[in-house]
Amino acid sequence: MAAPKVAVVGAGVVGLSTALSVAGAFPACSLALLAERFSPGTTSDVAAGMLIPHAAPDTPIHVQKQWFRETFTYLFAISNSAEASEAGVHLVSGWQVFKSAPEEDLPFWSDVVLGFRTMSEAELQKFPQHRYGQAFMTLKCDCPPYLLWMEKRLKAKGVQMCTRKVASLWELHSEYDIVVNCAGLGARRLVGDQQLLPVRGQVLQVHAPWVKNFIRDGDGLTYIYPGINSVTLGGTREKESWSLCPDPGTAKGIFGRCCSLEPSLRAARDVKVKVGLRPSRGSVRLQREVWSQAGAKILVVHNYGHGSGGFSMHWGTAKEAARLVGECIALLQGSSSRAKL
Ligand code: FAD
Repeated sequence: MAAPKVAVVGAGVVGLSTALSVAGAFPACSLALLAERFSPGTTSDVAAGMLIPHAAPDTPIHVQKQWFRETFTYLFAISNSAEASEAGVHLVSGWQVFKSAPEEDLPFWSDVVLGFRTMSEAELQKFPQHRYGQAFMTLKCDCPPYLLWMEKRLKAKGVQMCTRKVASLWELHSEYDIVVNCAGLGARRLVGDQQLLPVRGQVLQVHAPWVKNFIRDGDGLTYIYPGINSVTLGGTREKESWSLCPDPGTAKGIFGRCCSLEPSLRAARDVKVKVGLRPSRGSVRLQREVWSQAGAKILVVHNYGHGSGGFSMHWGTAKEAARLVGECIALLQGSSSRAKL
């Protein structure tokens, strides 16, 4: 049979990494990436890009841990390569602090990040309002550079990149054999998934190059994540809010909360406000389907619904999506050899 034609829909962290994973696993495929918006216009551009997972309620923890481990291992190798600066991937050390000791003292990802340990009393003196803390080293992606680096790698592999809004995956059936749905929150309309809901996040980006360590309140709401060129201050988590308008009162609140964790931020400059809608679902949808109508068919792989953890999990889920694409290719090859008999 002719080389299968594959389209990946979506150019956020999930679509780009899935396209890279498919291109790596199946170099003979003809691959296109279609998206309504590319960087800097995606939710992935707004993210802080920290590798600290949030557990999704409906996915077994061992599966989430496997996705996180694969992502960490992949990005750690990039951070140790000559590509690190262009890809915007770097190691960062810091602290997660709690006002009272958490119920589970070891998060599921504690043996994936590096050097995880309980903070000493001396270290906790930096945080007078907190009584317990964890110190570790993890990875951070500076999001727009990381997305652009992936786009560059895809173009170098000959993947076609097209700006296109897809109204229905079925509209692609005459052009492609396999469609991979990485549309993030856009999948709600694209495939009518009512389980997929926005969780609005507002963050600030500031110039404060003296801040070198990350600080995260254990409630997950207040965080200070230093990147290569700016520091991200967060945040908010507003379920089912669709507003992309920055709220000045919220921005003031975030700044105040972060300054109470790291008072030197009072001297931060060039404050920019960003808002994004996390594509939240009880579990990431990683699934293969066959769609058929009047004798025509298209094979569909879904990979969306990463919520608060798109950067933390993307390489693990991209590898799983590529495995499902492999199953689709086997199905196509099976039906083409049956047709010849
Ligand atoms: P998106 O980035 O939204 O990409 C979706 C793509 O699909 C876009 O290209 C879009 O144009 C395209 N698309 C949609 N519909 C269509 C259509 N009909 N036709 C064609 N194209 C379409 N995660 C972490 O792991 N670590 C963090 O520190 C972190 N911080 C965050 C901070 C904030 C404030 C926010 C909002 C999120 C944060 N996240 C973080 C979560 C992370 O941003 C998301 O999980 C991730 O960006 C989801 O990526 P995605 O590729 O699925 O979606």
